[in-house]
Amino acid sequence: MSLAGAYESSNIFAKIIRGEMPAVKVYEDEEVISFMDIFPQSQGHCLVLPKNVEARNLLDFPPERLGPLFQRVQKIAAATVKALNPDGVIITQFNGAPAGQTVFHLHVHIIPKYDNLPLERHHQGKMADTDVLREQASRIAAAIGK
Ligand code: AMP
Repeated sequence: MSLAGAYESSNIFAKIIRGEMPAVKVYEDEEVISFMDIFPQSQGHCLVLPKNVEARNLLDFPPERLGPLFQRVQKIAAATVKALNPDGVIITQFNGAPAGQTVFHLHVHIIPKYDNLPLERHHQGKMADTDVLREQASRIAAAIGK
């Protein structure tokens, strides 16, 4: 899907937001939901999505909601650093299929980076074990607000 086009409410992240598909949840409030990426590029890779909006990408998103979205991104990234102690953290997002986007509901990646551990390539990681994701999610969730 290029940058132009209509939001499709059948996308997988819309289904997760509506509770129609499972996800290993890290955090949820009135603005966002955050859950673990099932093909993580590193240990602790999670996603943050705005709720109650039909935005395929950042360019579609109401500017007044950017602040609330990125406050949550910062909060969850800080909790990830506290919980998992990476050496760095990558915060990124992709807009349009040519840029690497594969799911067309706006989302932000939080990807911990550990010294001496290479990242899996975007879309080329292995599917993670759900129990491992649950354990990481519960550690990140416990660190939120600490
Ligand atoms: P993007 O390429 O930026 O659109 O990223 C989509 C991300 O969603 C990729 O990193 C996928 O590994 C991840 N992903 C796809 N399906 C699911 C799912 N059902 N639950 C969690 N993460 C997913």
